[in-house]
Amino acid sequence: MTRLLIIGPPGSGKGTQAEHLARHFGIPAVSTGEIFRSNVSRETELGNEAAKYLDDGDFVPDHLTNALVKDRLLEADVKAGFLLDGYPRTAPQVMELDNMLASQGHALDAVIELQAPDAELEQRMLQRARDEGRRDDTVDVFRRRLDLYHRETHEVVSLYAGRGLLVPVNGSGEPGDITKLAIAAVERFINRKGEHA
Ligand code: ADP
Repeated sequence: MTRLLIIGPPGSGKGTQAEHLARHFGIPAVSTGEIFRSNVSRETELGNEAAKYLDDGDFVPDHLTNALVKDRLLEADVKAGFLLDGYPRTAPQVMELDNMLASQGHALDAVIELQAPDAELEQRMLQRARDEGRRDDTVDVFRRRLDLYHRETHEVVSLYAGRGLLVPVNGSGEPGDITKLAIAAVERFINRKGEHA
């Protein structure tokens, strides 16, 4: 049973790594960004509410995001573990997740922080814009997302570091190599925790 988070700036390849890591650990990857995008394209009530925030590169308000994650974490497939990608992104979301997990008697095993220099991130985003055509991958919206990441999500990283859960991973390089690095780092981390338990 493995419960993981992955945190990383926009353009860091977080979504790609989340999918590979989830497959390796045999757990579902739950991406709040993906869930929002899918709702936007299906024009659901949630999608219609969230669309303007996604388009502007702003965070979707906490009441919507927290409710979405709460519902998702009650589904059967995540009972045996999950990898959350894109949540929590703010300190209040950390507290919400704490409550959700505590009410189920669960705890996180590790928090992966994918690190990459800002200069590389914009280049990768521009490539992804050509490949995938995500509507929030424009230079202006991307800079807003990156700025929010530095301002808000830094605190999330510090909170988990303070709890001794942070596993930093160098996110520069080939995606396949980064996946291997991340798997090795997480397994080492979890094994070491097991030895001290
Ligand atoms: P990226 O990390 O590249 O910005 P994501 O797919 O993780 O991409 O998120 C895309 C968008 O979805 C965000 O810009 C935001 O509008 C919304 N979103 C995703 N997760 C959250 C969250 N935890 N809280 C608020 N908004 C979120």
